[in-house]
Amino acid sequence: MDIEAIRNDFPILNRLVKGHPLVYLDNAATSQKPAAVIDALVYYYTQLNANVHRGIHTLAEEATAAFEATRDALRQFINAAHREEIIYTKGTTEGINLVAYTWGRKNLQEGDEVIISGMEHHSNIVPWQIVCEEKKAVLKVIPVNEKGELILEVYDQLLSERTKLVSVVHVSNAMGTINPVKTIIDKAHAKGALVLIDGAQSSMHLDIDVQELDCDFFALSAHKMFGPTGAGALYGKKHILEAMPVFNGGGEMIKEVTFEKTTYNELPYKFEAGTPNIADFVAFKPAIEYINTLGKENIRKHEDELLSYATRKVTELEGVRIIGEAAEKASVLSFVIDGVHPQDIGILLDNKGIAVRTGHHCAEPLMNRFCIPGTIRASFAVYNTLEEIDKLADGLKKAIRLLR
Ligand code: PMP
Repeated sequence: MDIEAIRNDFPILNRLVKGHPLVYLDNAATSQKPAAVIDALVYYYTQLNANVHRGIHTLAEEATAAFEATRDALRQFINAAHREEIIYTKGTTEGINLVAYTWGRKNLQEGDEVIISGMEHHSNIVPWQIVCEEKKAVLKVIPVNEKGELILEVYDQLLSERTKLVSVVHVSNAMGTINPVKTIIDKAHAKGALVLIDGAQSSMHLDIDVQELDCDFFALSAHKMFGPTGAGALYGKKHILEAMPVFNGGGEMIKEVTFEKTTYNELPYKFEAGTPNIADFVAFKPAIEYINTLGKENIRKHEDELLSYATRKVTELEGVRIIGEAAEKASVLSFVIDGVHPQDIGILLDNKGIAVRTGHHCAEPLMNRFCIPGTIRASFAVYNTLEEIDKLADGLKKAIRLLR
């Protein structure tokens, strides 16, 4: 792959930060956007802007066609069987909340169990806490071992006929661990439980085939995949989505409304109340196409090279402890440094134009598991280079010297 050519597709990578060329290593928080995505936003607002689905005029038809084309691209991207299995959401958080509030409220009863894991993002913890509390269901947690992997023997023990849903992250945003979701799904199904996969971090880096995985739900966010913020998708198996109660009420999601009774729209629209982020969904398609053109295998190969190089360089520094040393990882390097607060490191790196994330990464229980307040996290995308990792290592070395 020609990384220089790829970098040229991302206008923001040309900017300076505090007088230095930007080194963007915060891709797990959000990825940068290629010109094709930015152009699509401008094109939408300059040529297509109209509300979708409702109008018969040309702009409304063209906007609707562009908006719906992304659903087909997404269906193909995750190999869903039907386009109506792709529900547009604001992102992963909303997708998980949708399942908790609709499926969860209808199907969970007192004494039922929901299993999550010890490495979940808050967005895959809090919605289940809310619904479990309301329904007097029990939330159970698969623990994490010292290497940052799920302890599957305990998962086997947690699973029972009482388990109604398992909701786990595919790739940990805090450590990069790739979880064995196929095994997790098969074991849950054997007990009659459904499975939701939080794909916020995996959709950019791993091949996703929801039919092969056989997951019941899969949630993702466009902004982690070179696409705009405010757009995402929830995949659900058609028969499960059909049986679920509606989520938000309002325009679009209805068939007929009278004061006596309202009937609801077909899938996927029954879950899509109100005017959506039309421009962002239109611009999500070129992001998907960008990934498809590069090829996930090529992306993964380059990112793996970056990750192993960065791991080696950072480990060489004195007093570094890597958090998350799983055998299977994707694109995230999290670490702490003896005697130095992560936030101070973050500030000093920023002074050199290097963007990393510091803190708990919305995974506070995981930080508690490792008895740390947070980590320094460098997360990589296809446009990052080995030279940028050298800059990170050099910046870290200088920061440590200054802070110790
Ligand atoms: N899960 C994981 C693993 C994540 O990394 C994130 C985003 N940091 C989310 C869920 C939530 O995604 P969003 O904020 O796009 O809704």
